[in-house]
This record gives sequence, C-alpha cells and structure tokens, in this order.
Amino acid sequence: MAHEVGFDDCGIAQAEAIPQFSHSLQEWTAQGCHASMSFMEQHQEMRGDPRLLVPDAKSVISLVVGYKPSQTMQGPFRIAQYAYGEDYHEKIKRMLFALIARIQERYPDFEAKPCVDTVPISDKLWAMKAGLGWIGKNTLFVHPRLGSFCNLGELVTVAEMDSYDSPVPNQCGECHKCVDACPNRALKIDSNNKSMLDARRCASYHTIENRLEQLPENLRTNGYVFGCDCCQLVCPFNQQAPASVEVSSERLQELETLPVADESTFKQLTRHSPISRIKYYQWRRNLEKK
Ligand code: SF4
Ligand code: SF4
Repeated sequence: MAHEVGFDDCGIAQAEAIPQFSHSLQEWTAQGCHASMSFMEQHQEMRGDPRLLVPDAKSVISLVVGYKPSQTMQGPFRIAQYAYGEDYHEKIKRMLFALIARIQERYPDFEAKPCVDTVPISDKLWAMKAGLGWIGKNTLFVHPRLGSFCNLGELVTVAEMDSYDSPVPNQCGECHKCVDACPNRALKIDSNNKSMLDARRCASYHTIENRLEQLPENLRTNGYVFGCDCCQLVCPFNQQAPASVEVSSERLQELETLPVADESTFKQLTRHSPISRIKYYQWRRNLEKK
C-alpha cells in the first residue's frame, strides 16, 4: 500500500520509549551544537517516545521516499539536492493521508497521526528502529538503496501489529568519507565511534536556519547558496542511488535564474519548494558569500 501511494519503502516499529536517544539529544543541545535551533531543546523526551505524542500509541509506521534529482544545476551556484523537488512537507503529508485512506479501505477503524518534520518525533530514529536503514557518520538516515538522499515520514497509530521489523546493521563500516569531506569540520567522531554534527560550523545550517544578516566570515560554502551536500555527495550509498525526482528542463532553467531574481520573482519561483523556507534577504546574503 505504501508503494501504491508513492513511498519507496516502509517498516513498522513498536512504539516505546528510547531513553538513550533523549539522552544523546540532551547532550547535543547542552553543548550548544544545535546553534539557534531552540526548538530542538523542546519536547526532547517526546522525540524518543511517540506515546507522549499519541497516547496509547502501539506502532510507528515509518516511510521513506527518495529525492535524488534526475539533473542538477551547472554553474557556480549550487543548492542542496532535496531542494530540486516539491517541498517535502507538502508532498509527504499528502502521501501519508493517501496511505491512511488506502489502509482504511481494508481496515475501516484504522486511525493514525501523520508526522513529517512538524511534530516532535525523530524521523531518523524511528526509520532505523523500523529496519529501513541506519544513521550514518554523516548523522543522517541512510537507506541501503536510496542512501541519505531521502525524506522520511511516519504514521503513529494505536493499532497493534502481529509482528514488528527489526533494525538492520549499520553499513558505514570503516568508511569516513563524509567526515573528511566537510569543508567546515562540522562532523566529529567521538571515542565511541559515534558521530555528531556541530550546526554552528555547518553550511547547511547557516544558509537555511541562520537568520542573521551576515554569515560567519570563516564559513566555507563551496558554492552552496541553499543547504550543503558536500558530506553526502561522497557517500558510496548516495553515488549508487537511483534518481527519484524528475527535474524538467523548464524547472532547471527557473532554478538557474534564481541568482539574478528580484524579490517577487524569487517568491514566485520558490513557491511549494523547500527554498521558500528562507527569506529573500537570506538568499541574497548567501549569494554574496559565494
Ligand atoms: S552539510 Fe556541509 S558543512 Fe554541514 S556537515 Fe555536511 S559537509 Fe559539513
Ligand atoms: S560516507 Fe561513508 S561513513 Fe559517511 S554515511 Fe556514507 S557510508 Fe557512512
């Protein structure tokens, strides 16, 4: 059913508390690695326990859809690959509602809360627990076929399953290409071989979430004016991943005109795009950093 509504993969985990996750998150925010994203300080326990989000939840249905684009911009400016397609919040929410409707055709009493990055639940934690992949040293969720070029969503439900999926082994092994590729040394590996992202050093954070007028002087953006994929492009799992989003020549041309767009054209061309998350002044600021 998940495939029928457009998802690439689906797994189901038992809804329960994962206290280790909440502790890691607390440690991360206590060190200030979340930079100005104060929303990461809130509902930390809920992120690791979906029963605090949906009382009596029994299951988390985790869903994944690839976003690798069929073609990318040429030229000096680059945008993150997830920004080539439709805003994933809109796209995945539509697909989650379609899946609920599809399940209800067979199970009329089925009810679920659709989640896509707008409620405090850790998408990558539940995708991992549902056996869809693992959390790579790039700190992102990695699917064995789609790599980390994928978006996640969940249905949290009180429906209990006969059986649940189990986590799969982490396949990063000895590889640390992502860590080495970061131009800002934002990825760190601790003595337990656990990786951590310091958003204060990350070009993706700064070009999207940083609302200040100026970017840090020593930040290296490598031509990225929205997001940054330097740590993802080197990943063997991403290099072998199939293209999932068809980018038309017209859309590519529109994106290529964005660096010279005035404010109203920028707004018009980024409607329903992840790029609409930033304001025009941030866009100009990012372009000037180049
Ligand atoms: S997104 Fe860019 S800056 Fe951030 S960790 Fe990855 S390579 Fe480094
Ligand atoms: S580049 Fe290597 S270490 Fe990093 S996520 Fe990919 S496989 Fe894992």
